[in-house]
Amino acid sequence: MSSNKSVKMSEDEISKALAKAEKEAEKKDHKKIWIDKMMKSAKTYYKLCPYYDKKTSSCFLTLSSTANGENKCTREGKYENCPIFLAFLDGKYQEYTSKKKILPLDFLDLAQSM
Ligand code: SF4
Repeated sequence: MSSNKSVKMSEDEISKALAKAEKEAEKKDHKKIWIDKMMKSAKTYYKLCPYYDKKTSSCFLTLSSTANGENKCTREGKYENCPIFLAFLDGKYQEYTSKKKILPLDFLDLAQSM
């Protein structure tokens, strides 16, 4: 009997682990969908990256984190698939969801909330 119980327990554990993995995957999907949406929305407003300073070729998103001039945009403001831009959106997603705030559906709403 005790062996049956231990099998059952491990089945429980497996299903718990599966449910957890599914939840994680759902979260990931949700984040990806939202990031894609923000990227698409940003592109309707900005041809070049909104954080790109054309005059100095600087990236505003890295400006505060680097004090030694290592803040140049190497992409000439082409932000599609830019890891810095994506990391920014990722961070915003974490910020909103951890505070249980409603995620903006328009990039301008997100940019204004900065
Ligand atoms: S590095 Fe990326 S986020 Fe920064 S200005 Fe360039 S395109 Fe924009």
